Amino acid sequence: MLFDRRKFLQASAGAAAASVLGFRADDEAFAKAPFATTQVPAYYRFKVGTLEVTAVTDGIISLPLSLFPAAGKTEALAVLAKAHRPENAPTAVNTYVINTGDKLILVDTGYGNMAGPDAGLLLDNLKAAGFDPAQVDAVVITHLHPDHVGGLLDQQGKPVFANAALLVGDKEYAFWTDEGITSRAPTDAQKFFKIAQAAVKPYEKRLQLYKDSEEIAPGIVAAAAPGHTPGHNTLRLSSGKDTFLIWGDIVHVAALQFAKPEWAIAFDSDQAQAIETRKKLFDQLSADGTLIAGMHLDFPGLGYVTREAQGFSYQRAVWSPKI
Ligand SMILES: [Zn+2]
Repeated sequence: MLFDRRKFLQASAGAAAASVLGFRADDEAFAKAPFATTQVPAYYRFKVGTLEVTAVTDGIISLPLSLFPAAGKTEALAVLAKAHRPENAPTAVNTYVINTGDKLILVDTGYGNMAGPDAGLLLDNLKAAGFDPAQVDAVVITHLHPDHVGGLLDQQGKPVFANAALLVGDKEYAFWTDEGITSRAPTDAQKFFKIAQAAVKPYEKRLQLYKDSEEIAPGIVAAAAPGHTPGHNTLRLSSGKDTFLIWGDIVHVAALQFAKPEWAIAFDSDQAQAIETRKKLFDQLSADGTLIAGMHLDFPGLGYVTREAQGFSYQRAVWSPKI
């Protein structure tokens, strides 16, 4: 029986006191549920024309202000404070599953085993979303950084996606697997080359290199967006009247880079080019109103770019209970 607070108060109104013991008479109303202590799985579905897309989170990482060398500390802290973000900006790591009705395509794979405690959650969340990794027909990689390819391998270094083709941009693959470039890379960048090479190696027989503007599946077109890496790609989905752009790593910390597109992240292989690419896309997307998804925008990472008097802003898409 549920506790009726009003009746109880009426009943006890004349009593000397509503003692703690009095509440105990209706103890069942206060049944103690144990604390859950764990987060719920995180995935979110929506349609792009006839395509069914599921955003699946890999978790979050922290990107400290020191990674944005062009950002003056006082100004950057003020921008973050305005957005209620701490200095070590918590940043989402998102992936997207596209069901074409015929094929299941996963775009990027998160950090996998290289993650700290707050990322590397892709497999758990994929399963919670009803996907078996063996069902994935193709994994499309926007670029070969660890937080995008880490989930390709399990702890033993075996492919997680046993039946999937691996689609990587031709320029991206050529850059990260070039022995000369690898050997000339600064010591602290060497590990990025090693991780990229190790991630694609077990998929070699199923590797397909895609080109800029290539339609990698019906209605899904790759578009070069270089700067963050030499072969960084976005994916444009078109179905019926809908268009949707998965833009990979155009933005790393929304609170900083929409307002200040010129604040590049230290991981950009060519910061000037990354800034140019970001500004060009912001111009275009704020004008045409295309729905975008970003691997590092707050989960599920869906929203719109708006032009402001100075810089741009990000508007999260409305959450919908229906797909
Ligand atoms: Zn990334």
